[in-house]
Amino acid sequence: MTKIDYHLHTALCKHAVGTVEEYVEAALAAGFDEIGFADHNPLPDNFDIEHRMEASQDSEYLEMVARVQQKYSDITIKLGLEVDYLPGGEDFLREQIAGYPLDYVYGSVHYLGDWNFDNPVFVHRWENSNVDDIYQWYFKCLEDLIASRLFDIIAHPDLVKKFGHRPEKLDLEACYRRICTGLREADMCIEINTSGLRKEVGEIYPARRFLEIAFETGVPIVIGSDAHSPEEVGSAFDKGRELAQAVGYTHIQQFTRRKRKPVPM
Ligand code: ZN
Ligand code: FE
Ligand code: FE
Ligand code: ZN
Repeated sequence: MTKIDYHLHTALCKHAVGTVEEYVEAALAAGFDEIGFADHNPLPDNFDIEHRMEASQDSEYLEMVARVQQKYSDITIKLGLEVDYLPGGEDFLREQIAGYPLDYVYGSVHYLGDWNFDNPVFVHRWENSNVDDIYQWYFKCLEDLIASRLFDIIAHPDLVKKFGHRPEKLDLEACYRRICTGLREADMCIEINTSGLRKEVGEIYPARRFLEIAFETGVPIVIGSDAHSPEEVGSAFDKGRELAQAVGYTHIQQFTRRKRKPVPM
């Protein structure tokens, strides 16, 4: 059994707290074999710079991770990045990703147009929105993210449910199938992200039905806590693993320099 949490942030993104050492110590205390940092990437024109590292801080990020890699021999520490997919930003992102010695790359959708729809500060915009339309837009962005072939893992696959909004008429089953077929074709993993349990929706990303379809389609998984503080490292990992096992998974994926290999979970 291998315990891996690949979704840890750092204080560089300005909305996470703690030192990288504190994250590693927390992972050791929780019995993890392996962890990975995946902080929010800088974007073109300093887009939403309040919630990500500055472009000039990327070397600091690499150095921080390298520092704990050298310091701790009882746990394997990987270098990842949580990259926001922005339509039209593919060339920028391709070059950025190629510039770092990454073990894995998460692709995320946190923006619909200029709206950071998962930020509590902008939650009021949901009130004037048609939930079905928003869901449809979100899943279209995920399809474009997958089609870009830039990423290894799709992060928090149904983040759009974060505040508990549910579509009325949208055929979610069909959306899940389209996404999973795309992931399979792109040889991407789906993330079981336990942070949804800490949010209004109170459930793991993705929904159980979504994960069932991922399993049927042959999409591999990773499990991540999306920790923004040392206390959140590995949070609800057992619940994530139970869900994975309940739908049929026996392995999670281990990444090294963007090559994956299945390990028993
Ligand atoms: Zn974050
Ligand atoms: Fe995210
Ligand atoms: Fe994250
Ligand atoms: Zn995240």
